[in-house]
Order: sequence, then C-alpha cells, then structure tokens
Amino acid sequence: MHKALHPYQEDRITVAQHIAEFGKSFAIDRERARCPFCKQQMSVRASSAPNAIGHFAHMPNSGFCPTKEASGMPYLGKHPKNPDIHHANQVKQEFALNWQKHFMKLYELVPGLHYEEFKSAVRLANKERIWEYANLEQYHLPYIFATLMDYPSTSSYKNNKGEHARKCWFRCWFDSSVQCYDDLWIQRREPLMLIRAWYRQPLQGKPKLDDLLDFYPLSVTDEFLQSERQLTPVVIKLLAPWIQQYFPIPGNAERI
Ligand SMILES: [Zn+2]
Repeated sequence: MHKALHPYQEDRITVAQHIAEFGKSFAIDRERARCPFCKQQMSVRASSAPNAIGHFAHMPNSGFCPTKEASGMPYLGKHPKNPDIHHANQVKQEFALNWQKHFMKLYELVPGLHYEEFKSAVRLANKERIWEYANLEQYHLPYIFATLMDYPSTSSYKNNKGEHARKCWFRCWFDSSVQCYDDLWIQRREPLMLIRAWYRQPLQGKPKLDDLLDFYPLSVTDEFLQSERQLTPVVIKLLAPWIQQYFPIPGNAERI
C-alpha cells in the first residue's frame, strides 16, 4: 500500500513522508502507520526496485482486514448462520418491486455499472443465500451487491465512443467490524460504513494493494428507497423480463 494512515492523525501519508517525520526506525509501535481499512499498525517493506522507497504492509500475524483476502472477496462462502426462508421470500418480493431503485443505488456505488454486472450480482446473492439473513432489510441489498464481486473497468458499459465508462477497477467492503455478512447486525459503536475503493486496472489478473488509487467510506442508509427516479427505457427493457423470470411473483408483470 502506497499510502497509510498517519500513526495518530487521520491524514494519509506515503513511506517518504513517514520517514521524513519519524526517521528510518520503525521499531516504535506508536510511530507505525496504520491501515486505513482495519486501523492495525503497518510495517514498511523495502522495495526490490532500485529507486523505490518501499510500501506499507500489514504486520505478520495481524488480524482480519478485508484487503488481505487473496481473492479480494472476504465474505464469500460464509452463509447465514440462522437462515430464515420466509423472510427471504419477503425481501425478494420487495426487491422485485423496487429493482430499479436497487440498480440505481448500485450504479451510484459502482459507476459505469453494466446491466450484466447487475445480473451477476443478483445471481451471486442467490448463490451466497444473501436473502436468507434473518435481519436483512431491502436497503442492505445494493451495498451487499457491491461487495459480492469485483467491478473491473473492462466489464462496465461502453459509452457512445465505444470506451468503457468505468476507468478504474472498483471493489467495495464493509468496515472491518464486518468479517462475514452476519456481522452486519452486530452492535457497534460507530455507524456501519461501506468502503468504495478503486484500483488501477491491471493488464491481467486482479489488482494488488499497490494498485489502489483511492477510496472513501460512506454510510449505509435506506434513503435511496425514497427516490422516485426511473431507469432509462433501454435498461428497463433489458432487465424487466429477466427480473420477472428470476423472481416470479404473482402480479409482478403488471407492476414493472
Ligand atoms: Zn488492513
């Protein structure tokens, strides 16, 4: 990671800035930079490149941090501990009625969202049995969709010049109080946050922490459900039949 949190301020600093302020001795714990995501202390790793100054890395045996998962997807494969199928059906119905609002919220979180990416996220939600979390409310869905998969530049929609609308690789996590989706409902002192991060699009494979360009945290709220905006007719035409097929709810055809 090229920038980490200052040891005791909220600024992000480079290794060069850290050395300028604290010198080259990183042995004093209170002078270690912190990971902006999990707030754990970081060490400075030397770079193998001749003129590079090094980068920040998690300490050996450090605790959970969403960025440390090799796949970049820290919550996959951890299914609900106390599934509630009846509740799942209710949330699915709410989603099927309000899918346009969910699409627009996800679009806000992940710019350049392609309708096929939206379908992939919904399919993954099914695979991960997201609907079955007993405390799930429909406003959680787009935030969870954002964390279920990576959103590379190359899978975004193309604008009228034929260019990908999303220039960077997007990846989202919840704050580090969440190690699995069940943790979304634990008691916490701070409000639940989603972190949107964007990376340089690598030539191949997935981006590494050193490809991280920037990120910012935002609150998880239900405000988007009050929006009266509608999707463009083109996107509605592409997605409405799929939603009807995927969520066969009586009367749904008339309402979409
Ligand atoms: Zn971390």
